[in-house]
Amino acid sequence: MAPTKLAANVSGDFFVNTNCINCDTCRQLAPDHFSEVGKFSAVTAQPQTADQKRGAFHALLSCPTGAIQTAHTDELQLASADFPLLLTEGIYYCGFTSRKSYGGSSYLILHPDGNWLIDSPRFHLPLVRKIEALGGIRYLFLTHRDDVADADKYASHFRAERIIHELERDSQPDAEHLLTGTEPIFWHPDFKLIPQPGHTIGHTVLLYKQTFLFSGDHLAWDGSPNELTSHRDYCWYSFEEQTRSMERLAEERFSWLLPGHGKRIMMPEAEMHAALNRLVKRMQNWTN
Ligand code: SF4
Repeated sequence: MAPTKLAANVSGDFFVNTNCINCDTCRQLAPDHFSEVGKFSAVTAQPQTADQKRGAFHALLSCPTGAIQTAHTDELQLASADFPLLLTEGIYYCGFTSRKSYGGSSYLILHPDGNWLIDSPRFHLPLVRKIEALGGIRYLFLTHRDDVADADKYASHFRAERIIHELERDSQPDAEHLLTGTEPIFWHPDFKLIPQPGHTIGHTVLLYKQTFLFSGDHLAWDGSPNELTSHRDYCWYSFEEQTRSMERLAEERFSWLLPGHGKRIMMPEAEMHAALNRLVKRMQNWTN
């Protein structure tokens, strides 16, 4: 059945159709214009300025299901050329999310010893060309099975080496490197890989430069009530195990959270640590 425009959209150029899977990507990229209405996202305020329209185009391009439409596509190519979007020096959000990972976010780290891709976006040629221009990919780190998307295509194109935990191997059978156990591994002085089983059995996060935590689906931000959260309803393996993992993660220090789903946040390290300890306590109460 052909998708139809959702009634919740306000009238104007941009709208969301019934292909929406409520993945949240558009609400992260253009939060002033896309909102959650029932089980979908909708355009609840039309973009007016050039900057606002650019943000809406970023959302349209990153939507994993093509659910965002507009009659005016003249700026689409310019908006496409913005990706990957710079978040902070040397760290990019890739956009072009995949339906295979339910719109999961992926990130690119530029590093003098070789760039890293964290989880996989859609294999989209204009994005691939931009990544080539930024130096390509040496390592493709996969946090867990849900967010591998087109990792095999990126690995093949860039001759990148995939890193994934051995317990997630069935999602990426040809991966070049398999992590084992639950002890943190310094792959490089800047790259600490920390197994965090719970959401899935071999889920692993990346702590980069003791500052940036790429958390996959293990840890996220809840904008209401502005606290760290652990997606208890989407825990596929063991929430008790996820709680124990989170207790270990609370021994680490970081100030940026770059999750697989939801908002990217930055706060002083001490505040992040306090927020993580509050989450650990809530998780312990849930599991006891
Ligand atoms: S990005 Fe697309 S699928 Fe995801 S919530 Fe927005 S409209 Fe829906």
